[in-house]
Amino acid sequence: MSIRLGNSCVNCKKYKDHFCTLHDTTVGMQHTCDSFSMRAKLKDDPNCVTCSRFMNPTCANPKKAAPGMLCSHWAPQEVA
Ligand code: SF4
Ligand code: SF4
Repeated sequence: MSIRLGNSCVNCKKYKDHFCTLHDTTVGMQHTCDSFSMRAKLKDDPNCVTCSRFMNPTCANPKKAAPGMLCSHWAPQEVA
């Protein structure tokens, strides 16, 4: 099983105020589905500043992380 941080409902285009507008039901950070679609705002600007791991113990490259930098461990921040 793949564990994905970025596919949470809170990062989906269909998410609004704790609600899935596609399925008409309450959802949260722990939910996702096969219709997941990443918000364009997150998808279009992947760099350390928009990474949830920036200045965080889970950052893969804490000595190199900086605005404009990016690595394969980038993970989106929760947008609520
Ligand atoms: S991932 Fe699926 S359930 Fe969650 S908000 Fe998006 S469409 Fe709805
Ligand atoms: S180095 Fe990688 S994990 Fe660390 S903040 Fe930048 S993108 Fe995220």
